[in-house]
Amino acid sequence: MPKHKLEVELTLRYSYHVGWRHLNDTLYLFDGRMTTPRRVEVDEDRDGWLDRCVVTLSPAELARAKRAYKVYRAWAKADRAEWIPTFTQVLERATGDYFDRGCRCEHDCCGHVSAYGVAKRIGPRTLSVRVRNIINV
Ligand SMILES: [Zn+2]
Repeated sequence: MPKHKLEVELTLRYSYHVGWRHLNDTLYLFDGRMTTPRRVEVDEDRDGWLDRCVVTLSPAELARAKRAYKVYRAWAKADRAEWIPTFTQVLERATGDYFDRGCRCEHDCCGHVSAYGVAKRIGPRTLSVRVRNIINV
């Protein structure tokens, strides 16, 4: 299966809607490889579908992500965060967020696809990702 490159960043504050998420403050976590998303389910009721893919990090990229996590922890502590997620939780959240997509239309029924990714770490350097796609109708 062909693999694609992806760059995963951790969103530090969710200040902007998904269509504008590049405006959020982020912390670069890692470069990874992902399998081509495969459609595993069609949801006729909600005009959508579910895709699945696998994201892998090289050993060097895992080490890079761990270094970035230390920076994140220091930032969160300085920001007086009430709760600091674990490294795995950060990996899962940031990887899932990579697949989030939203349009910038002001009205419903535009026909664009919104996507929402949820990642689960299934190995030291492997995450399984489920991406829920919904057409705005
Ligand atoms: Zn739209």
